[in-house]
Amino acid sequence: MTYADYHRRSIQERDSFWAEQARLIDWQQPFTQVCEHDRPPFANWFVRGTTNLCHNAVDRHLAGRGGQNALVWVSTEVDQERLITYAELHQEVQRMAAILQAQGVGAGDRVLIYMPMIPEAVFAMLACTRIGAIHSVVFGGFASVSLASRIDDAQPKLVVSADGGSRSGKAIAYKPLLDEAIRLAAHQPEKVLMVDRGLAPFERVAGRDLDYAQERTRHLDAQVPCTWVESTHPSYTLYTSGTTGKPKGVQRDTGGYAVALATSMRDIFQGRPGETLFCTSDIGWVVGHSYIVYGPLISGMTTILYEGLPTRPDASIWWQLVERFKVTTMFSSPTAVRVLKKFDTAAMKQHDLRSLRALFLAGEPLDEPTATWISQALGCPIIDNYWQTETGWPILALANGVEKQRSKFGSPGLPVPGYDVKLVDEATGEDITAPNQKGVVAIEAPLPPGCLQTVWRDDARFVKTYWQSVPNRLVYSTFDWGVRDEDGYFFILGRTDDVINVAGHRLGTREIEESISSHPAVAEVAVVGVADALKGQVAVAFAVLKDPTQAATPEAALKLEGEVMKRVDEQLGAVARPARVRFLSALPKTRSGKLLRRAIQAVCEGRDTGDLTTLDDPAALQQLRDAMRN
Ligand code: AMP
Repeated sequence: MTYADYHRRSIQERDSFWAEQARLIDWQQPFTQVCEHDRPPFANWFVRGTTNLCHNAVDRHLAGRGGQNALVWVSTEVDQERLITYAELHQEVQRMAAILQAQGVGAGDRVLIYMPMIPEAVFAMLACTRIGAIHSVVFGGFASVSLASRIDDAQPKLVVSADGGSRSGKAIAYKPLLDEAIRLAAHQPEKVLMVDRGLAPFERVAGRDLDYAQERTRHLDAQVPCTWVESTHPSYTLYTSGTTGKPKGVQRDTGGYAVALATSMRDIFQGRPGETLFCTSDIGWVVGHSYIVYGPLISGMTTILYEGLPTRPDASIWWQLVERFKVTTMFSSPTAVRVLKKFDTAAMKQHDLRSLRALFLAGEPLDEPTATWISQALGCPIIDNYWQTETGWPILALANGVEKQRSKFGSPGLPVPGYDVKLVDEATGEDITAPNQKGVVAIEAPLPPGCLQTVWRDDARFVKTYWQSVPNRLVYSTFDWGVRDEDGYFFILGRTDDVINVAGHRLGTREIEESISSHPAVAEVAVVGVADALKGQVAVAFAVLKDPTQAATPEAALKLEGEVMKRVDEQLGAVARPARVRFLSALPKTRSGKLLRRAIQAVCEGRDTGDLTTLDDPAALQQLRDAMRN
């Protein structure tokens, strides 16, 4: 079957296509309906079927591959590693599940996981899905204000955390950030389970904080059977930024997600049982959920969990791991490759990389020089793929597992099976069918299995945000601009909203603005994303001060810039820190008072600002130009 036929079948014969894919996973009770879509845009997949994500990721492999490594943990930060077989993973997950249950955590309860890249983070995720609890992993790089807003939204019964992480050999304490977040939050988790790595001494809150090592000893022989849940039972929520300051809890189901991942592992990533996948993302991001934890384990693969930088102890560390563990499938981001590009390829070429079949890159646009450099250095295909936290797995890619597809530079490829991708006119909502014409990338309802069910506890926001932004029709908006060429290949041209993408991580400019506004000296602020050769984009902030004399001298401005950056670091985390903060006496706005973000961004990138007829105060824009020049 050609790829085009396969894809057409996934849309036109949706139910039979997905019923077939559903056989890739184990079900306790068979489903009675493939897709329930009588209340669009809500879709329920594999209705009344019961299953369990942890069973599919762990237990079902025990008979055939109990002795095979499931998880390989390598930390170049603390110079430790751990090889964990499926049988051992099964034990550790049951111990963790028993600890959770002993604290009263059951099906439907939320558990927030705020952890570095250590095996216990994976045990915690799997333990949650094992007992039907809903995990919400918060990226370890986020700080207390970000964490507090997620605690308040998820309302976890329990938090699993650790004393600290480590970056470039330097310990980063997590506990003070967590304690501060709980202090800021209205919701108070009953318990905090602390993994003590001996990295960062911390204070325990009596009656609330539990020690993981102690609890684990208590449950060494625990046997915790999987709780069979309905296919539509939420497996996790994962927060992502939007155009408002309040992050959205992307809610994922159980059965649809398992089936979607299994399908993607076969059709796109071509990972086979017994092989090794190395995904360099973090468990705090969607890529980590899908392709460090659940995807490879559902497929019976060995997955590598790497704590460390790609450049330490030297820039060949990833390739050492590829050689040592015979990695067949690798997944990373363009930014990470651009970091490596600064180093000589000689060290890389000393490693035997013949096991590697493909390197998948996602999260941000892949530029041609980066793609060419890495494909020549590795001698294997580089496969760009485009998706979002919301979808959980790729929307656009090359499904070479179905039929080998030609790749085109700059394009993440073709719609993935199950995705009915359209380009629509922003103003009219009409389909754009002519090639090479710009439109909004949209997806017809129902979204395929694995995509978000709703926004956690906010169906109205789900409908309004994603399904009502394109006029005159009910389609899911990705908020990305795109074009499609004569062969149907898509090219992504950037966001339609105020979301920026720094090193493949999505950040909301509003969240950063809110954090900067909390600085007592700041009256008003605008944050925009500006093109950056390494990170794709960086955040740049323009602030108006209550008392302009505070930044009157270059020294004073520099000091204030440092203070503002520190505030963002402490509240949101270093990922959100603006690369520059400039002080102006006014921000460029329209006569009706709307910020001219596009014009600000254009000035920062040295581009033409376009139509400025609505600009209220030309002096403000000139001042911005001068500020950027200096
Ligand atoms: P996130 O939800 O953080 O994964 O961010 C998703 C956003 O990242 C998308 O809406 C795109 O703007 C961008 N993105 C992800 N993958 C790609 C890609 N392969 N090419 C271009 N942009 C991408």
